[in-house]
Amino acid sequence: MQELGLFRYLQPSFFSGLIDDPVMLINIRPTGRGILLDCGQLHHLAKRVLRSIDALFVSHAHMDHLMGFDYLLRHVLVAPRTIKIHGPPGIAERISHKLAGYDWNLTEENWCTFEVYEVHPQQIEQFEFAGSRGFTSQHRQTLARYDRIIYQARHLKVEAEICDHKIPVLIFRVTEAPSFLIDRQRLDEESLLPGPWLKDLEKRFYADGCDSGPIDIWKETAEGHRVETVDNAEALYRKICRDVSPASIGYITDIGMTQDNLSQVYELMRDVTLLVSECTFLAEDEEKARISAHLCTTDLNRISRHIKPGLLLPMHLSKSYISDTQRLYAELDQPHDTQLLQLPDYMTPRPLLPSELPNPILRQ
Ligand SMILES: [Zn+2]
Repeated sequence: MQELGLFRYLQPSFFSGLIDDPVMLINIRPTGRGILLDCGQLHHLAKRVLRSIDALFVSHAHMDHLMGFDYLLRHVLVAPRTIKIHGPPGIAERISHKLAGYDWNLTEENWCTFEVYEVHPQQIEQFEFAGSRGFTSQHRQTLARYDRIIYQARHLKVEAEICDHKIPVLIFRVTEAPSFLIDRQRLDEESLLPGPWLKDLEKRFYADGCDSGPIDIWKETAEGHRVETVDNAEALYRKICRDVSPASIGYITDIGMTQDNLSQVYELMRDVTLLVSECTFLAEDEEKARISAHLCTTDLNRISRHIKPGLLLPMHLSKSYISDTQRLYAELDQPHDTQLLQLPDYMTPRPLLPSELPNPILRQ
């Protein structure tokens, strides 16, 4: 996916082709670290990329969304780090079975740890799988859910809702942290002059989202600038900031077109900058979409018309359309101001056949 100028901190890359198993990497530019949304086909991601992953968000544990976990595990297990995994109810048991599929008698004290956060409607159950203990499961704690936020770091937050796919599935919204932006016109309207105090305000904004203590500012007067003390730095910032909503990425995959799911989608994805959405079926196969609780093109049209994202990336098209994947784009009817992004059918070269092996002895 081309780089999108709308994002300040986040660099989203969809690493799957249109009909590959989905995996989306979001690189956090200022730190060089990253998060993964789903864990489908991963073998083409460089080790350096996999080692930059701090958190993984799994929509659900159908194989095409989780089979890449083993490959990720292979590349991170000896690193002395903690990787957070967030998923729907039942994800801890799935991860536990995956990890229990190998012998771990040679693990060392400083191997990596997976912290698994199982998102339930009212609470989050936290589990730990430490390499030092052979990746066995330990329930750590139950955290109350007050809002949709399931993960927060310096440059982003991730919110989730539970939808229905005949099993619970998570849909995600990743939003950049707000940036410190001053509106020069609003500064003039308040008779304020730019000066070193703005640097102070910026430092305090990034330290803890703007503290509400007093701050010395430069006021414009007939005699030139005068230093004055304003009681509440946070309130002052709200008066002079540029009103820009932080860019965001919505990720929807494998949901049935039910009224409950639609309400969750509309609520969570409101004004999203980039919407990445599954569209498994074409319109003629609406019945198949209903039976398997997936979306078809008419469903995605309805969703995109409601959400009006700046950018729309359809993905996860059924392999049954491989002979003519372009029909997907012909059937999509996104809002006028939404830019449609297109993926290649496959992201990686075709796998080799025995006859294509370079070694003539092995070819026999
Ligand atoms: Zn599924």
